[in-house]
Parts: sequence; C-alpha cells; structure tokens
Amino acid sequence: MISYISASYIYTLTGDPLKDGVIGVDSDGFIEEVMTAGEAKAKNIAVLTHYKGLMVPGFINTHCHLELSHLKGKISKHTGLQGFVQQVMQQRQADGGMISAAMHAGDQEMLENGIVAVGDISNQLVSKGVKSDSKLYYHTFVEAMGFNPDRAADIIRAAVKLKDDFAPLRASVVPHAPYSVSETLFKELLAEAEQAGGLLSIHNQETPDENLFFQKKEGSFLKLYEFLGLNIDFFEAAGKSSLLTYLSRLSPSLNTLLVHNTFSDEEDLDFAADNHPHLYWCLCPNANLYIENTLPDVAMFIRKGLKMTLGTDSLGSNDQLSIAAEMFTLQEHKTVPFELLLQWATINGAEFLGIEDRFGSLAPGKRPGINILEFSGDGPSLRITGSVEKIY
Ligand SMILES: [Zn+2]
Repeated sequence: MISYISASYIYTLTGDPLKDGVIGVDSDGFIEEVMTAGEAKAKNIAVLTHYKGLMVPGFINTHCHLELSHLKGKISKHTGLQGFVQQVMQQRQADGGMISAAMHAGDQEMLENGIVAVGDISNQLVSKGVKSDSKLYYHTFVEAMGFNPDRAADIIRAAVKLKDDFAPLRASVVPHAPYSVSETLFKELLAEAEQAGGLLSIHNQETPDENLFFQKKEGSFLKLYEFLGLNIDFFEAAGKSSLLTYLSRLSPSLNTLLVHNTFSDEEDLDFAADNHPHLYWCLCPNANLYIENTLPDVAMFIRKGLKMTLGTDSLGSNDQLSIAAEMFTLQEHKTVPFELLLQWATINGAEFLGIEDRFGSLAPGKRPGINILEFSGDGPSLRITGSVEKIY
C-alpha cells in the first residue's frame, strides 16, 4: 500500500529541492516515486499528509562511541583533549547493567532523532547486543591503540579478534589517533586493512597540542604519556603537523574518515587532497565545543570542496546524539548553505560507509528513512531550528 505525502520542500539529494513535492512511500518506508507538485497534480494523486517543513533523508552519524553513553553529564567541559581523555579513563568503568541501559537509550535517542546509520567506535564487545537488536545500521570501528611499538603485534591480534567477535555485524579495525598508534602498529593496521578491504577512521587534529607533539615533541601530550606511565624516549618529532606525519601510513585505496579536524590548516588539507583520493572529513561541532570550546575552520573546508560528514561523538562529550543538533550548531556559528550542510548529514556519510544504495537520498528503491525539519526563511537565508520529526 503506497501513501503519498508532501512537504513545503522535498530535498531528495539527487536534484533541486521540490517545492510542495510529493513522494510515494510504502508502509515499510521504501520509496516508490518522487514527483514535483505539477506531476502529482497531473496524475490526480491524493496526498495523505502535507508536512509544513523540509522533507529530508535519514541522517548518517559517521562518528559515535555508543559504549561511552553512560558518561553523559559526567565529564567536565572545556578541559582540552588531554583532560578529557584522563576523565574518560577514570570514569569509563561502571556497572554492566548501567552501561547496557545507557547504550540502549543512546540507540533509541538516535532513532528518534532521525539517524538511520552509524559509524561507531568500539574498544570492547559490550555494544554488540544493542547493535544486533537495533533498527539502525551500524558499522563498528574497532579501535587499535598503543604507542609502545613493542606491543604492536599483540594489539593488532586482539583488535582483529574483537572485530571477528562483532560478526555478523560489519566491523573494521582502525587506528585510534596519531598520538596513540606507533609507527609499527600503523604498519600492522595497514596490512590488516588492505587484506580485509574495510573502511578506516581516525581521530585527527582534535587539539593544537597534537600538532605540537609531532612538530616539536612538546605540549600537554607529554603529560598524558606520563599519566599513562609510558616512556616515549624512542619518539622523535618529525618536525611537521600530525596529518603530514602519518597520512602516508594509511592505505590510499580505502575510504578513510578523518574525525574532528579542529586544528587542520590549509597545508594539511592540500597535502591530504593530493595524497589520498578517498578521504572524508567528519566534523563533530558539539563535541569540539564541549571539549576544546572551539570549532574547525569550516569556511576553509567549503572552499577546498572536500567531502564532509557529520558525527555526534559520544555522550561523554555531547549533551545529545542528534545530527540535526550538529547541523544547527554549525549554522549558528558558521556560514554553511543549507543544501551543503544536508549533504554532509546524509549522502556523504552513506557514501563513506558504502551504503548509498540504501541510504542518503530520497530515491525510488531506497529505504533511507524520512525526516521533517522545521525551518524559517528561504533561498540562501533558509535556516533550520534543529528540531526533527522522524516520519519513516
Ligand atoms: Zn571520538
């Protein structure tokens, strides 16, 4: 049974927005037909419901840590990354029932906020049950982490085992961050990634001290290693930014997500674009405001025409898991045309995850989820309020 619904504007992501457009959808949310207002009128289509709002595809959250959901409201804001990491390490242990309940609530919150697919970082197997039962699509990124090169073989073995334990859910082994992965571990990760043919994701340039560490072996990371009890005498600064130092250690043939990019500069972006054809740049604005109280140079990313996606990060560094809220924050603090912002929130993330045949646009044959966004203004001044109603 097909229902015909319409909205003030339909953003299909495959063409221009359709003013008062009409969409035919079955009871399971599969899209049968997309029509302009004129086409629907000519066909005498009876519209069941007209929504006053913007009809858009389900959102793709390319960066989350579902297993940290129980840290909601527990981590102090604006401590910088080093303070954040220490707080998470001190507080991530909790009662198993509490962790599980928080993950279920996080998953449900994403569903209600119109998210349909998630790239989710995992260090443990605890989220497998929630993900298996979820209505959302998950790709799990099993994070490998270890700055001591002697431990690389053990770390990769444990990570591959964890990835296998997530089966049949889709999972890939990925590096945590440039400052937490030794060169030896990067080599092991490269071999695993090229053999498995999966996806890659890495936290990138989230704090100014990450660059400082690679440029001069100075800054707050020295304190972090001390806190971790790690001797880093072996490490020599390469004299260039974090991204310039490690990018060549990643496979250029795999879809790769660089997460945060808060302190990436023009040289980083140009070098990355020249040396890696499958990069996606994920922004997590609310988490950046939470931890570092700053945002990336969004205008520079737009100018460079890079493939951008959005992520919520975890409830340890965000008050909610909502891509609409991330869009709203970027719109409030930066200048991003709505249609571009919507690409970041939908089709780009679907492409990165390799699920664009099902998600990311409102096109016949897809079951992408359908959301209605409240808005004001029109043309270049069109703005969303951040509220989202999931209708499919
Ligand atoms: Zn993260």
